[in-house]
Amino acid sequence: MTNPASLDDAAIEALLKGKLDELLDGEDFADPKAFWGKQFDLGLSRVYFASGHGGLKLDPSWQQLVDDRLKAAGAPSNRVINGIGLGFAAPTIEAWGTEEQKRRYLRPMFTTDEIWCQLFSEPGAGSDLAGLATRAVKDGDEWVVNGQKVWTSLAHQSDQAMLVARTDPNAPKHKGLSYFVVDIHAPGVDVRPLRQMTGEAEFNEVYLTDVRLPDSSRIGELGTGWKVSMTTLANERQTWVNPDIPRGAGFIGAAVQTWRDQGHTDPARRNDLVKLWIKAEVYRLNSMRAAQAITADGPGPEGSIGKVVSAELNKEISSFAMNLLGGEGLTYSGYDVGGVKASRHSDGPFSLVDVQRSFLRARANSIEAGSTEINKNILAERILGLPGDVKIDRNTPWNELKRN
Ligand SMILES: Cc1cc2nc3c(=O)[nH]c(=O)nc-3n(C[C@H](O)[C@H](O)[C@H](O)COP(=O)(O)OP(=O)(O)OC[C@H]3O[C@@H](n4cnc5c(N)ncnc54)[C@H](O)[C@@H]3O)c2cc1C
Repeated sequence: MTNPASLDDAAIEALLKGKLDELLDGEDFADPKAFWGKQFDLGLSRVYFASGHGGLKLDPSWQQLVDDRLKAAGAPSNRVINGIGLGFAAPTIEAWGTEEQKRRYLRPMFTTDEIWCQLFSEPGAGSDLAGLATRAVKDGDEWVVNGQKVWTSLAHQSDQAMLVARTDPNAPKHKGLSYFVVDIHAPGVDVRPLRQMTGEAEFNEVYLTDVRLPDSSRIGELGTGWKVSMTTLANERQTWVNPDIPRGAGFIGAAVQTWRDQGHTDPARRNDLVKLWIKAEVYRLNSMRAAQAITADGPGPEGSIGKVVSAELNKEISSFAMNLLGGEGLTYSGYDVGGVKASRHSDGPFSLVDVQRSFLRARANSIEAGSTEINKNILAERILGLPGDVKIDRNTPWNELKRN
């Protein structure tokens, strides 16, 4: 427990209730950014963050009390607007950043004044992220960055980015990386949206040409970029077990609604629907358990369970709902479905295009946030204790490795 030693559970509960009363007093949520700013300043953004960083240094299990009360009060959520920032960047900066970096980045991230994205993957480095080739070369007090990133979700709507770059090509691949924050509007950052099969342009390729970064934008020690990025990736996978952002489980509502809307009565199909509903419910309950298992040190490899299960479940459910539509399923209205936020994590009611879009979008679930195969490797090695994947390149300098 990281609860302040002087407070017992009853005192912590009273403390949180008092702060929540203050936050919600007379609040009509007309200005969400001002509301989130107040929430941050009261230490209710993530109660397990330190005081002054949006938290109260409490055990993570207390966050549920805050989330439940805010949900019941109808408070607006910033989670979808700045999911990458709040989900993965904030815990990384809280864990590895300097005091100055925490003060600079965490509040505007929480108020959504600064939207964040993640510059990790490259054309030649996805699953093998440690093999990445984007270079950061020291020039006085600055770093000069050159390289290409790809699949960068929301870069076209972002202000800041988490970047992993190679600072020592002579070191083995995991050891020569460093982690930086990049202002996405800085000279030399070129964001080019990529259109995907749903019709939206949700992600981008990002070219970095002589981008200059102050050394103060480096998160963690020089050469520890791999370790720091593991915090980001573990938190990314954890978002797949977040019961407040239901993915596979959430879309079961659309399948049930489609069943009703389409007037289906076939008992065999009803049987399939009920089986999916049971799987979704098991996933939802397991997510709640996993969310409570998060410790002050952050999420563990358990996030990979939620990631693997929900990716596959989401595909199954959206395929089922799509089949219910019959021929109508083929009438996708094409490349204009209302932008990137259309139907994401929606609670319904679900339209025809929601079902079609989810069917198409779900194909990516087993690739993003680490492919299903990679997450199964993590589970095999770190939870089941099975022998590791073959690693023949761990000690060879990166610049001597064969690259595609
Ligand atoms: C919708 C979406 C959003 C994304 N958003 C971002 C983002 O915001 N920022 C970012 O940096 N990246 C993002 N990504 C990239 C994502 O992290 C990579 O696509 C993913 O890590 C897989 O890398 P890859 O595409 O290069 O495939 P590869 O690594 O080339 O893998 C190809 C296939 O080989 C399998 N494979 C590879 N290595 C192994 C192994 N050791 N054992 C078993 N199987 C293996 C993989 O499972 C996969 O099936 C996003 C991807 C998608 C689809």
